[in-house]
Amino acid sequence: MSDDRSEAVSERHELDCPCGSGISYAQCCLNFLSGRAKPSTAEQLMRSRYTAFYFRNTDYLFGTHHPDTRSPRLRKELQSVVHNIMWRSLNVLAVVKGTKDDKNGKVEFECTYHQDGELHEFYEKSRFKRYKGDWKYYDDRG
Ligand SMILES: [Zn+2]
Repeated sequence: MSDDRSEAVSERHELDCPCGSGISYAQCCLNFLSGRAKPSTAEQLMRSRYTAFYFRNTDYLFGTHHPDTRSPRLRKELQSVVHNIMWRSLNVLAVVKGTKDDKNGKVEFECTYHQDGELHEFYEKSRFKRYKGDWKYYDDRG
């Protein structure tokens, strides 16, 4: 899939990562979105999924969604969301478990986005679980 944002990715590597970590995209979420590395914590996965939303990478979003909670319409829903929303900022508020040694974790966050020319806020407490050893997004009922 190609669109204006993914084609511009190569020029963005040295810029700050969209996830707000304060380090460059090349040193941060690019490692996960490119498949070079896997997130070792739930927070890393959450941040990389935000960056995937930012760059409209629905394959990564689908692949990091836990199979137990993937709805049959998930791909279509993701495509609709990524193409209607321009993400602006991410702020991680709290993390419960989700470390290298855990099997479950929760990440509470807020973000802002533009839709139809208006600025919106979004808040969620996400649950994450490991599946075959890798962190996956489970649901928003944290
Ligand atoms: Zn990042």
